[in-house]
Amino acid sequence: MSHAECLFCRIAARAVPAEVVGEADGLLAVQDINPQAPTHLLIIPTEHIPTLADATDAHTALLGRTVQFANRLARQHQLVPSGYRLVVNCGAGAGQSVWHLHLHLLGGRPLRWPPG
Ligand code: AMP
Ligand code: ZN
Repeated sequence: MSHAECLFCRIAARAVPAEVVGEADGLLAVQDINPQAPTHLLIIPTEHIPTLADATDAHTALLGRTVQFANRLARQHQLVPSGYRLVVNCGAGAGQSVWHLHLHLLGGRPLRWPPG
């Protein structure tokens, strides 16, 4: 279901421009507009799922494909030797600001732990 007011639904519908770097079945990868690392991609399922906590058993295959798509992008962007990070911010307290499920793929610089 597409939500007219949702930024990532609008990007998936190509109603808002974005730097698309990859597509897969039901998935889109775009450059983050405010990158926190030399490579900072967002992997966005086209289905509107507000947060990770809203995912159900019906989304199990989609979530698996989302992570594998991120892995493929990490290989394409030569992030495997140096390492990379997949992040899902779930809820306002975790820093989520766009209420449409997405993974962050970060790499290209040393990534410290714990994150802020
Ligand atoms: P989160 O805070 O986990 O919800 O992540 C939302 C991310 O979306 C942030 O890293 C923003 O920089 C990014 N973002 C916001 N608007 C856009 C946009 N129009 N195109 C690409 N990325 C965006
Ligand atoms: Zn949406």
